[in-house]
Amino acid sequence: MRKIKIPVELLKSFIDPGDCWFDHDGDCQGHGFSLRVDELCPQQQAKQILAKYYEKEAKKMTKPLSEMSMTEAVEKAFELLVYAEYVDKSTEKPEYLKYSWYSKFDGTFEEFLENHELKTTHIEDYGDDEPSTFDSQTAWEHFHYGTKEGNHDGWTAKVEKSYGGEGQGDQYWMVVSVSDGTTTRYFRRDGWYASYDGGYLDGDTYEVRPAERLVTVYE
Ligand SMILES: [Zn+2]
Repeated sequence: MRKIKIPVELLKSFIDPGDCWFDHDGDCQGHGFSLRVDELCPQQQAKQILAKYYEKEAKKMTKPLSEMSMTEAVEKAFELLVYAEYVDKSTEKPEYLKYSWYSKFDGTFEEFLENHELKTTHIEDYGDDEPSTFDSQTAWEHFHYGTKEGNHDGWTAKVEKSYGGEGQGDQYWMVVSVSDGTTTRYFRRDGWYASYDGGYLDGDTYEVRPAERLVTVYE
């Protein structure tokens, strides 16, 4: 079977919550599909794909930080920062803090996450490959000026340093950290800045360690 990528949200919208029910020919009357003996109802197949996807996501997120790949750790960091946005957007604001476009988000974090502009969740090749991640140029650039800290379930993510912008030359970079309470890891991305064009974080993500340097000053 040839495979294409389908966004999770799209697949979910096609799924019928009702159960399959089979007539004496083995056809699914619940969804109106005639099936060969060895064939599953397409609705059943779609539900299995989604279940596999969610299982995989859940497993990935309960791994200790020290065992995560770089991509998983960065993904977790940005997810925590998005969680802070979620908490902020789910909180009823006092009148004087509301912008004209302010609207409170009512829904679960999973719903917020799935609809977030930064996350395009894909089920690739029927869930056999890794879904697309938060470790993207868009996400790095989003948090260069955005939320600086997120906490959830004993995890903490921080934008440790976002350097660059007007009057700071052509350097443009950012370091994020993520901690599970035991381990803390740091990741960096470099890019460039031009006053006529703005800042870009289009380099590769790499792991770094904080190091203190002794500096001599003369006064
Ligand atoms: Zn069915």
